[in-house]
Amino acid sequence: MQRYELLLLENKAWAKEMRETDPDYFERLVNVQKPDFLWIGCSDSRVPPDKITQTQPGEIFIHRNIANMVVHTDLNLLSVLQYAVEVLKVKHIIVCGHYNCGGVKAAMNRHSYGIINKWLRNIKDVYRYHQQEIDRLPTEEERLNRLIELNIKEQVLNLAKTSIVQKAWKEYNQPHLHGWVYDLHDGIIRPLLDMPANSHLDFPIYEYDDL
Ligand SMILES: [Zn+2]
Repeated sequence: MQRYELLLLENKAWAKEMRETDPDYFERLVNVQKPDFLWIGCSDSRVPPDKITQTQPGEIFIHRNIANMVVHTDLNLLSVLQYAVEVLKVKHIIVCGHYNCGGVKAAMNRHSYGIINKWLRNIKDVYRYHQQEIDRLPTEEERLNRLIELNIKEQVLNLAKTSIVQKAWKEYNQPHLHGWVYDLHDGIIRPLLDMPANSHLDFPIYEYDDL
């Protein structure tokens, strides 16, 4: 049997088990999607959001990309964000990165990776904002992990800079924004930054006053 065929077999077994333990399970999920959380995470296969938070289908709306970025020109991210905030009315948005992130690591050197350079450029910009602080650290691992943390914080701020989030803050006093980092060594998520609705940004130029 091929590896991919095993996935389909496992899926059948899972669906059967779910039906047996809860006959109405799928019927309920078909009719409603009302997650409280939008998760913006890294595509890394070692950081599966539902597994590490023990959440069930229907509980988290998920967007993943390389290094959990919130890029203000990324139509994919912005569409997910707008839908999550305006239609699903999620109460929390979590940007969850992780230590040992290959995306951030790739952004920290001068190697050219082709088309991915365009994406990594956003992380290099975060490095540039915080270069003094990062370069002061003695080891490469510490520098990498600090950039990972700073990158997560920067992406939370990027969320707060969108008119989508600011409009929702004004109208519904939500969502609450969170920056978290996941540690592959112990499986623990550690909060880094917390931005309740209507928090102010360091630079008021990003705050729209006519939404
Ligand atoms: Zn990663």
